[in-house]
Amino acid sequence: MEHRSAFIILLVDILLGITNVLRGGSFWTAFCTSLILTPVVGIFVVAWPKSKKGALPESTPTQAGRSNSRNRGRSLGKCEFCNTKCFFLFYFHRSCRQVYDRNRPGVIDSLVAAAKAEDCKSLKTGIESRAKDALLDGDHFRDAVLEALKRAIHDVLSDNLLSSEEERRLKSFLTEFSITQADAPEQYLQIVKGGILRDLTEGKVPTRVNVDGSLPFNLQRGEKLIWLFEKVDLIEEHRHTHYEGRSAGLSIRIAKGVYYRTSAFRGHPVQTTAMEVSDRGFLGVTNKHIYFAGSAKSFRVALNHIVRFQSFDDGVGITKDTASAKLIVFRTGDGWFTNNLLQNLNQIETKSEPQSDAA
Ligand SMILES: [Zn+2]
Repeated sequence: MEHRSAFIILLVDILLGITNVLRGGSFWTAFCTSLILTPVVGIFVVAWPKSKKGALPESTPTQAGRSNSRNRGRSLGKCEFCNTKCFFLFYFHRSCRQVYDRNRPGVIDSLVAAAKAEDCKSLKTGIESRAKDALLDGDHFRDAVLEALKRAIHDVLSDNLLSSEEERRLKSFLTEFSITQADAPEQYLQIVKGGILRDLTEGKVPTRVNVDGSLPFNLQRGEKLIWLFEKVDLIEEHRHTHYEGRSAGLSIRIAKGVYYRTSAFRGHPVQTTAMEVSDRGFLGVTNKHIYFAGSAKSFRVALNHIVRFQSFDDGVGITKDTASAKLIVFRTGDGWFTNNLLQNLNQIETKSEPQSDAA
């Protein structure tokens, strides 16, 4: 296979040389220049297009994993799959790549099954030998394990609840395949988040979070921090008033929406509301309050003073129980967790005795 590619490259070089002669130039100048340039083009043509064409339709994560591994320990002339020599312009044997592409999804499927299985340990050996046959070694195997973990967590959390049994199985998968928090920080977080939500639904106040350093706000006595979001956008409703029409005189504002004119006024005030980001900071959730600490604003809202939660894809909106309360949105970037956390927390809070507090 690779030799045929080299032959094509050589043929193109010769053709370019001849073309240059016909145009009155030198054969060897064109030949040598293109000989240097074509390998570069060749590498792109051969190493790239397979994934671009999407040999595996469902495999966007597969490619992400592959491109990760591409940057690690790859060297020209050595097949990354079987570790033996290949053509000097290539990273792999085409046949090896085909074996890999064909079998990788199956290996990942069995890894996903292992992450959800009762006894992950007993499945491990079988999966490892299957991976070896599919040429998934070293970094390639590691990528597959991480991808499987991601999928297993997604499956397990699709019912929005991580049961203690599911949590135990996922953790044993992490141990068996020695995945550390540094390897999969996001997945570790998801497991912790799942555990927190389960604690809440079981009526327990979760204590799974430790904060390094001091909190950006003071908790009350007996109050427990359940989660601290960082880099949260505070989005508030802003009212803008502008005048449509022409004003000949000065208008004085008496109360919201009521205007008295001091002279002829040929126009009417129009109020528009818009949601605008007004600050960015920490959002702390405790068993009693929501705290926000930003660079310009800091406040807390008692959970039992919130009358309404609104779910957003990337955050949550709250409305307090005062008559003039406006919608406040916290954009945390993880709407699923934020909404589930606050809604479940609120249920616990309303079960216990009411808390007297002002926001
Ligand atoms: Zn090979």
